[in-house]
Amino acid sequence: MACWITLSELKFDHYYSFDKLTETLQKLASEYPSLAKLRSIGKSVQGRELWLMEITNFETGAPKTKPAVWIDGNTHAGEVMGSMVCLKNIWHLLIKYGDDPNIAELLDYTTFYILPRLDADGGEFVINTPYYVLGADNETGGGRWYPLSREEWSSTERGLFMEDVDGDGVIVQMRIPDPIGEWKVSDKDARIMLRRTPEDQLGDFYRVYPEGFILNFKGEKEIKMAPARWALNFNRNWPGEWAKEEVSRGSGSYPLSEPETRSVADFIVSHPNICLALTYHTHGGVLFSYSEDDQIPVQDRKLFKIIESIFEDQTGYPSRSMGKRGPSGSFSTYMTVHRAIPCNTIEIWDLLSEIGMKDWVKREGFTFSAKRREEQELKLIAWNEKELNGEAFVDWHEIDHPQLGKLEIGGWKKKFVLRNPPVKFMEREVNKIMFFPFRLARLLPRLIIKEASSTKIGEHVYKVNLILENVGALPTYIMKHALDIGSTKPAIASIKLAHGMKLISGDNFIKFHLEGYLNKDLTEQRRERLNNCDKNKVTFSWLVRTEKSGKIKLKVQSQKAGCIKTVLNLSPDIS
Ligand SMILES: [Zn+2]
Repeated sequence: MACWITLSELKFDHYYSFDKLTETLQKLASEYPSLAKLRSIGKSVQGRELWLMEITNFETGAPKTKPAVWIDGNTHAGEVMGSMVCLKNIWHLLIKYGDDPNIAELLDYTTFYILPRLDADGGEFVINTPYYVLGADNETGGGRWYPLSREEWSSTERGLFMEDVDGDGVIVQMRIPDPIGEWKVSDKDARIMLRRTPEDQLGDFYRVYPEGFILNFKGEKEIKMAPARWALNFNRNWPGEWAKEEVSRGSGSYPLSEPETRSVADFIVSHPNICLALTYHTHGGVLFSYSEDDQIPVQDRKLFKIIESIFEDQTGYPSRSMGKRGPSGSFSTYMTVHRAIPCNTIEIWDLLSEIGMKDWVKREGFTFSAKRREEQELKLIAWNEKELNGEAFVDWHEIDHPQLGKLEIGGWKKKFVLRNPPVKFMEREVNKIMFFPFRLARLLPRLIIKEASSTKIGEHVYKVNLILENVGALPTYIMKHALDIGSTKPAIASIKLAHGMKLISGDNFIKFHLEGYLNKDLTEQRRERLNNCDKNKVTFSWLVRTEKSGKIKLKVQSQKAGCIKTVLNLSPDIS
């Protein structure tokens, strides 16, 4: 297999625009036609293709006949790093097939569906504009007006909106001196803004705002934020516990109201071979999971525990499970609870653990106390000087704001420092995450035929035996929840006789499920755990009467554990 693209040529030195992403995917697909197929599963509102790379060894079976892993990235406009990890996943599977036996085995028996950029419009918007997207005003979607139209917003609303006031290509912060302001300058470093404490009676104080202009300004002293312009949140638009806008911000007018989410849901529903799913977000350095969720069976929560431990081992990042679900409409809840496909959200990149401020779980999530802020900011400033030549911080500088007069602009460039890794750290971070889905894929169920035989047991009567085994770790139904809600059909073993043969005992098709070898770890029954009998194996027997020779076709079809078949030749004359 010739490689047009080598490791040094797939460069992680910038965030890929839609065109660059498209070109790279097309080249990879055309170079590896026996392993990859690029398809568009739909179009964004602005007409961009929603590219999905289908990867498996096509010579060992069609993609849909194998257990599959779903991976997506860039659900939120600003989280373009997710696309880069998807790209590396694709690249690694294709390039390494030839010389890594583990990858070869994976693609012989498994399918990967990888969608690098769900918010194709938003990702492009974020890469090509100064907008931070998901800032103080919670603008999670990129450039798509919601819930207000542009006309409604600009003619009937007031307040501050984020904008690149000084035209330097980034949106940072504005500080305005004010004796009753709630911010002060740190006396350890004049660049750092700190909250004013109750004891700060004397000194210079400021008000601090995102860099921007004021919509329909009429000279007001008190500045409030304008309503968000692009507040649509794809990760609130899924049917899983969807709630209306008043309860769940950004949820859209109804579940799957957007062509992007609808296209993915259509694909998921029409590909029941999908066994596991991952969705790449940023940031925080954490895996969101369902191991504490008491609305799914204990067995499934144990499975999530196993997934968490693999994640922690692979990435060094912690995992976190939410006990009680609120309204969410998130992809992971849709997949896990509505489709019974275990789905985890990965928050890639953690700037704060980078500067030694412990991991996401230990510092209790995204919140940080006011008194820690100074320490954190000092460490960030030092890290920025050392690692990025100070490029991540815009020094405070005075400008004449057309609406607010003289003020200073400065602060952190968050988009490619906090929200996504700086380019310098991109590939290291990509490599930290990329092997996790490959390790998960090793858990998938896989049916094999242990034995298929026919034995003469009487005049013109033959016993046909089929011994099947699930050699995978997980059961053929993946989640017990799938059995409870009926979202996964049983596997079917069927027998087809040649003309003139007669089935005298046994059904021509049998429905079944098999456990995987993790059964004893996953089961909630103590008795089960002590039970030695294998539940990952089954024997089916039929009695066939025939006076002529002919073929018996045995076929096994499982939605999530593969499709296999074999043919027995019965030759009554000689047997
Ligand atoms: Zn996100």
